[in-house]
Amino acid sequence: MFQPVICVERALLIENGIVVTMDLQRRVIPDGSVAIRGAAIEAVGKRTEVKRKFKPELTIDAEGGIITPGFVCAHTHLYGILLRGSSLRIHPPTDFTQNLQRIWWPVDEALTHEDAYSSALSASLEFLRTGTTTFADTYSGPNSIEGVLDHIARAVEEVGIRGVISFEATQRHNHEEGFRGLKENLRFIAKKQNQKVMSMISLHASFTISDELIKAVVESSSKTGATVTIHTSEGLGDLYHNLERYGKRTVERLNDLGLLGPKTVLAHCVNVNRDELELIRKSDTRVAHNPMSNMLNAVGVAPVTKMRNLGITVGLGNDGYIFDVFENMRTAFILHKIHHRDPRVMTPLEVLEMATINAAKSYGLGDAIGSIEVGKRADIVVIKPKLLPTPLSASSVYGHLVNTIDGDDVDTVLVDGEVVLQERRPTKVKMDKVSQISRRSASKLWRRLAKVKPQVDYIK
Ligand SMILES: [Zn+2]
Repeated sequence: MFQPVICVERALLIENGIVVTMDLQRRVIPDGSVAIRGAAIEAVGKRTEVKRKFKPELTIDAEGGIITPGFVCAHTHLYGILLRGSSLRIHPPTDFTQNLQRIWWPVDEALTHEDAYSSALSASLEFLRTGTTTFADTYSGPNSIEGVLDHIARAVEEVGIRGVISFEATQRHNHEEGFRGLKENLRFIAKKQNQKVMSMISLHASFTISDELIKAVVESSSKTGATVTIHTSEGLGDLYHNLERYGKRTVERLNDLGLLGPKTVLAHCVNVNRDELELIRKSDTRVAHNPMSNMLNAVGVAPVTKMRNLGITVGLGNDGYIFDVFENMRTAFILHKIHHRDPRVMTPLEVLEMATINAAKSYGLGDAIGSIEVGKRADIVVIKPKLLPTPLSASSVYGHLVNTIDGDDVDTVLVDGEVVLQERRPTKVKMDKVSQISRRSASKLWRRLAKVKPQVDYIK
């Protein structure tokens, strides 16, 4: 997917930090350095060794902090940020399906191209400020389908991070709507996006789409090589729908329609049984785990430990909820312990794998990003903890990343060797301006929502 680098080849060195490589050997290098030429990583190792061979034009001092690969969010909805803090005058949903019916679907219907742009701008900025350099986004909006991915792409490019973006095809209003969604994905795929903005095909969930649409997506994916993502057995409604209508469990139905495979990412997989996990394993299908969203929506706990034991590639996502990867990692770290009532379950390293290399692999990007290795894209995060109550060393760094560090500790971020966050400030956009654009859009959306769906009234 990635082309050879053609740009001014600036030599840049990041030094004086503990390098958490996330490479195959999971090397952690104390007093390490990362040498970057142009957009690619040229050397990784001990500071003294790297410095001997590499003459930088610019040096970034990690000041004894942590140098990690850029984090990868395996599943998000950038537009989710527009609902943050809103108060709803609605009958509170009592389960996940009602949550969609009473909150998210009315919001989807009220979204405009302006909302898509402004939310992509503010969400991308939140990702950048907290260390996520690549995300996989699914936008949903039945009244803003055609051309919307261009608006999201523009925002992602302005902030300077990477995004795999898509439109969520669904047939919850009518049959034709799903094919318009697919068409928008295919239009965007045909535009041959650059290495920062990539494309995929997104389906909402099996309970809002027909077999015909799934088959069309399978065919489109095989023709274009595009990754497909779909919400899978997030709430019980998805499972019940498939059992009642098709006599099959969700993953079973998707498998029978030819959707499973290494180019498919199933989001959630909360309500899946052993047989379904076996289908996922056999087909090398990928899973995006969203613990904070699953807790918020009270849908249950995905069997991530079983998935990992089976060798299934699981990436960590936020599902459009909290954009700080450290909060998401911390939640994944503790959620599975309480779920299994076993503190040995889910190590810090396992969590980090989900948030970096495994999420990258899920989208076919494992050879380009997700770890600090020679030849890979220079997507790097420099963390300078503001408070550190205990020593930071090669043996404590995984624990600190999961238990101590917050997004606010992210000091510098590079994407393709370009510094896009410096001393906690973005270099390509102004934070005030982004917030202003986002607030204006959210305020208009909340007002408009009351007109589109009078039963969902927002309290001003
Ligand atoms: Zn989602």
